[in-house]
Amino acid sequence: MRDLKGQKLIIASHNKGKLREIADLLHPLGIETVSAGDLELEEPEETEGSFAGNARIKAHFAARASGLPALSDDSGLMVDALDGAPGVYTANWAETPNGRDFHMAMRKVWDLLEEKHAPEPRTARFCCTLCLAWPDGEDEIFEGTVEGHLVWPLRGERGFGFDPMFQPDGKDQTFGEMDPAEKHAMSHRAVAFAKLVKALDAA
Ligand code: IMP
Repeated sequence: MRDLKGQKLIIASHNKGKLREIADLLHPLGIETVSAGDLELEEPEETEGSFAGNARIKAHFAARASGLPALSDDSGLMVDALDGAPGVYTANWAETPNGRDFHMAMRKVWDLLEEKHAPEPRTARFCCTLCLAWPDGEDEIFEGTVEGHLVWPLRGERGFGFDPMFQPDGKDQTFGEMDPAEKHAMSHRAVAFAKLVKALDAA
């Protein structure tokens, strides 16, 4: 893979929770980053039906618009008893006329599980696909998942999105209760980032 050292990297996201986590994960690499929002880049429409497809749309859009390499993250929650929903539509499930409401979205997931009398534990996984794209159209994809189950009532106010309802396997706390460093050591995003870092080290 092409080297990134000494280059500025655009983080092709407008999601504050993701930007914070990505900055924490990239910090040890000494790569200078700037967000798509800081550069006032538009948010392209995510029209693909896969995490990789949407990650490619976001990274290529930002790389072309800025003339710099860009990294995007497309992620979501896949619930087994809901046949993988909300999946690539995870963020859409939180949309309201007044912005995103994740409490409502988590309630919707739990209500659907209740309606279906889904057996416990209600297994689910977070998926993350990173796309690193260069302005000339080349790209690389890195993927990570973390397995767990959903809880109700919600627990914890840390993290973002669906974190308060997701308890990873082998842990007593939800992502919403965990110390951020602990989440960063095991999350779907951390797994995908470890693959990116390995490819950068080999560059
Ligand atoms: P997108 O990748 O911008 O389409 O949005 C993915 C959505 O998945 C986010 O808005 C969050 O709701 C959810 N999500 C992704 N990663 C996490 C995470 O680490 N914790 C909680 N929710 C997440």
